[in-house]
Amino acid sequence: MERYAKITEKRKREIVLLRGRGCAYKKCAFCDYHLDMCRDDAENFNLNRSVLSNVDGKYGELEVINSGSVFELDSETLALIRKICREKHISTVHFEAHYMYGDKIQELREFFCGAQIKMKLGLETFDYALREGVLKKGIDEIEPDIIAKNFDEANFLFGIKGQTRDTMLYDIESGLSYFERICVNIMCKNSTGILPDSSVISEFINFVYPIYRENERVDILINNNDFGVGDITK
Ligand code: SF4
Repeated sequence: MERYAKITEKRKREIVLLRGRGCAYKKCAFCDYHLDMCRDDAENFNLNRSVLSNVDGKYGELEVINSGSVFELDSETLALIRKICREKHISTVHFEAHYMYGDKIQELREFFCGAQIKMKLGLETFDYALREGVLKKGIDEIEPDIIAKNFDEANFLFGIKGQTRDTMLYDIESGLSYFERICVNIMCKNSTGILPDSSVISEFINFVYPIYRENERVDILINNNDFGVGDITK
């Protein structure tokens, strides 16, 4: 599995896929991504140290993802990321977290003092019925400003039955109102029961994608089969 890459389009940054002790939520109906985990912190740290050794600070910006939330990484890994940021002059670090960790984010920002933290939420959609009734995201909140309160960026998931051109446009426009940047992921077939809907994906490709292809605030991952690094659109 590839765990390090440079993103050279749109917001240039290095990206690492680290391993943690596993997603504490694990209930998202579309996700089998949480299988990349290990209960042993020492083994995780050994792997993460090796992945992080690739980071050269070229863009002054680093994105850290793991199969779950940043709060499921071991403390030695977090300390090493902070050390690398200081040594390599990395001023901005992106992490992801589930909504349930909202109250812990300020603590993380303080731990990384000196570097700006950009926290990304796996929101998937503002449509409460789809998000909670079908996708089971575990965000029991309707108001966008409350949802966005602790977060700077958000992931959206398109290509699912029930979505339309208008709902996708609404999600993107709302996302851009409440977050600094958003990332649109297109549903790919995986081992879960949530299947990609080809007609919704066609609507996205033909009518939505052309509008945001050049937008610097929108990353679009169409074939997110590993961690999507190669697919961020121009
Ligand atoms: S999408 Fe994220 S929070 Fe949801 S089960 Fe997968 S890893 Fe966990």
